[in-house]
Amino acid sequence: MLRWHFNFRSFSGPETTDMARSVMFFLLVLVPNVSLVLLFPFSLSRLALVAAIYGAVTLLILYMLFHPRSQWLVTNRSRVDGAGCVALTFDDGPDPVYTPKLLDLLREKNVKATFFVVGKRADQHPEIVRRAWAEGHLIANHTWSHYSLFCFLMPRRLRAEIELGTESVRRSCGVRPRLFRSPVGLRHPLLEPYLRDAGLEYVSWTIRTRDTLTANSSVLARRILNQVTSGDIILLHDRLPRGTDAMLGVLPRVIDELRERGFEFVLAGPREDGGGTLEPAACEPVP
Ligand SMILES: [Zn+2]
Repeated sequence: MLRWHFNFRSFSGPETTDMARSVMFFLLVLVPNVSLVLLFPFSLSRLALVAAIYGAVTLLILYMLFHPRSQWLVTNRSRVDGAGCVALTFDDGPDPVYTPKLLDLLREKNVKATFFVVGKRADQHPEIVRRAWAEGHLIANHTWSHYSLFCFLMPRRLRAEIELGTESVRRSCGVRPRLFRSPVGLRHPLLEPYLRDAGLEYVSWTIRTRDTLTANSSVLARRILNQVTSGDIILLHDRLPRGTDAMLGVLPRVIDELRERGFEFVLAGPREDGGGTLEPAACEPVP
């Protein structure tokens, strides 16, 4: 009798899920184009049908690629554990002018935060990243170059963006980062396996201050204080083309008010070095 030596386990691992995820995504991209054949012979009702398919699939793809908490293309975490805990995260630095000012402010307020640094900027200002790490903050990977069309990167470039970002952090502060966030939170069908290879966890956010779009400090404060709840990860930037004066101006008040309401500031993940946990991830008491 013919016996099948078939290892089902090898077809149910994460690689299979990754492949299915990629195939599904690319099939989804194909659907609207294939639907064009429905236009022939042409009629208004057929045009409406194709437009509806195009619209629905486009919305779905946009959700998969852009929504900060979409789990479709990459498993991600957008909260921290612990009752009354919130995490401040700062993307796009280090900036030679604004990041040191922010570090001064955080030291004065005795708050630890998480910095998602851009690798090539970290290489230009490694002393700032080193200082942030030495002062108890967490340094995370925000890619090498912050390429704005991240979701369309070819596989080799995607892997390089992740690995060079990690190496830059290691060069600056001596540890390989554990957390990753992509530019503008963009997803990529191959991100999940590449992050797993690099030992990185994707960390998203729950509160987007949109500080890239407004320099109005009252608006920034309101966006945080009006919606903050336990476990929130707050997205801010320590490097913006026009500077971060608005954020720096309002942050002390925001910190004070959150403390008054009983919130505690924690890192977005553990400070780990080579697999050994140095400090707990959640609800770390502020010394
Ligand atoms: Zn960014």
